[in-house]
This record gives sequence, structure tokens and C-alpha cells, in this order.
Amino acid sequence: MPTLSSVLTADPFSIAKATTNIDVLVVGSGTAGVTTAIELAQQGLSVVMLEAGPFVLPSHVGSTPFRSRSDITPQIHNLVRYRTAWSDREHYQEDVAPPLNNDAWSAVGGRTLFWGGCTPRFSQWDFADWPFSYDEFEPYYVKAEKLMHVSGRSERRPPFFRGKAQDTLLERFDRAGIGAEHALLGVDTQEPRNGYIPRGFDCAIDRLLRSGLLSREVTRGRIVLVPDTVAEEIDHNGREVTGLIAKGTQDDRRFRIAARHYALAAGAIQSTRLALASNLKDLHPHVGTHIADHLFIQGLFKLKEPLNEPIYAFVPPTQDRPFHIQIQGPFAETWYSPYHATVWLDCDPQGLYLLAYCFGVGDAAETNEVKLTRGQSDGPDSLGKYVVLNDRTPNDLRILDEMQAFLPEVAKGMEADLVRSQVNAPGAALHEIGGLRMSEEPGVGVTDTFGRFWSLPNLSVADSAVWPSQGSANSYLTITAWSLRHAQGVLAHLAD
Ligand SMILES: Cc1cc2nc3c(=O)[nH]c(=O)nc-3n(C[C@H](O)[C@H](O)[C@H](O)COP(=O)(O)OP(=O)(O)OC[C@H]3O[C@@H](n4cnc5c(N)ncnc54)[C@H](O)[C@@H]3O)c2cc1C
Repeated sequence: MPTLSSVLTADPFSIAKATTNIDVLVVGSGTAGVTTAIELAQQGLSVVMLEAGPFVLPSHVGSTPFRSRSDITPQIHNLVRYRTAWSDREHYQEDVAPPLNNDAWSAVGGRTLFWGGCTPRFSQWDFADWPFSYDEFEPYYVKAEKLMHVSGRSERRPPFFRGKAQDTLLERFDRAGIGAEHALLGVDTQEPRNGYIPRGFDCAIDRLLRSGLLSREVTRGRIVLVPDTVAEEIDHNGREVTGLIAKGTQDDRRFRIAARHYALAAGAIQSTRLALASNLKDLHPHVGTHIADHLFIQGLFKLKEPLNEPIYAFVPPTQDRPFHIQIQGPFAETWYSPYHATVWLDCDPQGLYLLAYCFGVGDAAETNEVKLTRGQSDGPDSLGKYVVLNDRTPNDLRILDEMQAFLPEVAKGMEADLVRSQVNAPGAALHEIGGLRMSEEPGVGVTDTFGRFWSLPNLSVADSAVWPSQGSANSYLTITAWSLRHAQGVLAHLAD
């Protein structure tokens, strides 16, 4: 019997035949890929989107009945999750496979099926070493927040948690001189009315399905989604990309797809890995370098008295304090797990424990790089064949110390105790950036200020691989905003 996927998606071989009609070939169907594809199709372009993973869910797991099934949700993760390696240089040996110590996801919708929903913006000062300012970027934030239905920024979409306990907690922070706010969340809080039903969590595949642009044939103004298909190599002649070699994950056949333009939206690490596997480092030495992930400390606070209601507070960064803290709960004693990132929906109002996630700006040092390996991961085809080499810099260690010192202060301000905290390894935050960094100067950056390769103008990057640095803010919103700006660059290029 045919599956739901067969109603919505196309097979790679039929697409390879339509190759002369493809305007833009997008690699990856997370928020970077889908946001780009929708923007371009809305302007009349024909778009094909390759996705290495399978079709498993039509929306975020937190918007489905699986939301609170802690027995089933990890099994859904396991359908599309694979193990990867991050290492420091001291423990890495070229000829020994590094231990698999981190997770990656490969599915239609990418990580947007499982993300935790926290959507702060970067701060003004985070753009200091970007080739454009916050003010120039802000319209993309506004548009991204609108299409993601972010709550907490407008009267129409008030903060998700707005009970008495939330007010009490924010007042306690205020009295302690620690500014705290409602957490901005990518969950629709607009009330149902006149046929409008709130959208739940933002999720790329949900947005794509609702867009009405999905088609099973290559046509102007439409998007064809090709799942279970890995982009293996980008071919070029030194002046432009001439085609992309892809392979279905279900068999060993390879095929070539040609398009007018190619957009990488595979996530920072995978877009970089694909560029390295295509020998693009020969074009610029910074292909693969300047990787960073957030410095990530998780903690557990114990309240003296129950709050009796759920809360989600956000202690923002300052220019002198390059980290923020997300505080959620209350729970019976618990601990962070990426397989239940929406645990804050499942509070125990009588519980005394609050979870804290503290994210700090990691150094995008030139020596932090993606290296290809022969591969030992259980990921689809070539996807797992890399290691990320990431050493903590003196600046990272200083910020980590400051983050650790701040947590007891925060506990005191909330009238709670810090009972446990843990510094997580690089990569654990899942907020990677870099590898194909942009610059306004061709010699300096791999890509230009719209994410196009300086040396291959019909190849561009829609995800955080181009970012020169990160703010403390979780990356989803800024990736979505960036991919909107990136799409403007693709349109301008194709109009030339
Ligand atoms: C558990 C969890 C909780 C999170 N919580 C938050 C949060 O609260 N707030 C926040 O801002 N962020 C959060 N994040 C991070 C956020 O989800 C990611 O930063 C964001 O979704 C990345 O989007 P992307 O489109 O760049 O990449 P992805 O979502 O990773 O999508 C890339 C897709 O490309 C595909 N792909 C890769 N290589 C190839 C190839 N060669 N050929 C074909 N396809 C390929 C992959 O299979 C994948 O599906 C969380 C992530 C996780 C996993």
C-alpha cells in the first residue's frame, strides 16, 4: 500500500530527468531549506529540495499526540537520529576513529521536528564582526518571527506562560537586580477565532505543507521534495557549479541533477562537510574552519516553596555578560534530555525543581574545524563521515567560569538553591555555526554577505555555516531570518 510520503514527495530519478527546468536545487529541508524554498517559489522559481532523511512526521513532535509520551518520543528520535564525533585535538588521532559522542538528525523537516522552541534574537553587539549591522538585519527578524508565529512579541500573540507564578518569579528577579523576561517561544499563542486554529510549534515541514507550494513535478512557482536522497558531491568548473551528484539512501544508484542555482541548507556542519567532500577547500582555505557551538551549562534549582504553576523565564545576556539563562519548570526532580526538549510543557505544578540552560558565546576559532574521516557513524551514507575538532579557547574557559559563578546568584534571586550543574561538551548545545564564513571581502570570507560563494556565484549557503560568530541566542530564529536574507541574494543573482 502506498505511504503518505508517496502522496507528497517525488523520487530522485524522475527529478533527474527534469533537470533542465530546475531553477534552484536546495540541499536540506530544515528551517534553512524550507524558508529558502518557499521564498523562491513564491517569486515564481521552480525549486527542488533534496533531503537525506525520511518523511516521519508532518509537524513538530510537541504539536502531536506524542508530545508527552516519554516512552514513544525517544523512539521517533531513534528513527532519524545518528551518532557523530566531536573531539579536542589532544584526544584526536588521524588513524583512530574518534568516539561517537554527539547526535545529529536526518529527516524531512530536519531538527525542526524536535527543537525546544526558544526564540530570542541576537543582540545589537553580536553583529559587531558581521558584515552588516543588527539594524540592517532586523527586518528579516521581524519577517521570520511572523512566519514562525513567535509568541511574546505582540499583543496578538502574548507570552506562552502568563500565570501568577510567572509574574512572581519575574518580580523576584527584578528585586534581586537580575533582569529577567518572559521567554519568547516559537509556539503560536494567537487565540482560535473565525476559523483560525493556532499553529503549535513552528516546524519546517508543517510550514511547507501549509504553503500549498508542494508539487510532485518540477514546475515554476512550486517546490518538489525528494526525501531519502543524499547530496554527495558538488561539481564545478572553477567558475560555477555544473551539477550535483546525489544518491538515494535505499539503493546504490547515483544520479546527476543540474540547476541554475544550488543552495546548501544542510545545517552548518553538514553544509561544510559537503563542501569539503566536494574539494571546495581548494577554492578557499577557510572552508571547514571557524566552527563554534554554544558554551552550554545545564543546571537544576530547588525552590523553597512550590510555585503551583508552570513558568518559563529568560535571563538575557548583556554586553559584559555574553550568556543567557532559560529557566523552566517546576518539575519533580529531572534533568535535561535532547529527546524531550519540550519538557516545559509537562510541568508538575507541585514540583520544587526548575531546569536551567545557560548558553554562552563560543569562540569561532580558526583552528576549530570539520575534518572528513573514513566514517564510523551510523548516519545515512556519507553524512556521518566527519569529526569536528573543537578546543576550548582561553576566552571560552573564562566565559564558562563566569557562567558557573552566575548560577548560584540566579538561584538566590529566585529564592531557590542550585542543586546540580554540569558543563556540557562542545557540540552538545546543537547550535553549531561556521565552516563557510562570510565576509564582504572575497579574500577573507568563503561566502559574500548574502551567503554566495565568492568563487562560485551559483552556489550559496542558507544556514549558520556562514556566520562569522554567534550571539548567546539559540540559533533557530536567526537561521530562519538569515535564510530569508540569503533568498534575496539568490533572487538577485538569478535576475542578473
Ligand atoms: C533537541 C533539540 C532542541 C533544540 N532546541 C532549540 C531551541 O529551543 N531554540 C533554538 O533556537 N534552537 C534549538 N535547537 C537547534 C535548532 O533546531 C537548529 O539550530 C535548527 O533547526 C537548524 O536548522 P537547519 O535548517 O540549519 O538544519 P537542520 O534542521 O539540521 O536541517 C538540515 C537537514 O539537511 C539534511 N541534510 C544534511 N546533509 C545532507 C545532504 N548531504 N543531502 C541531503 N540532505 C542533507 C539533514 O538530513 C537535515 O534534515 C534544538 C535542536 C535540537 C536537536
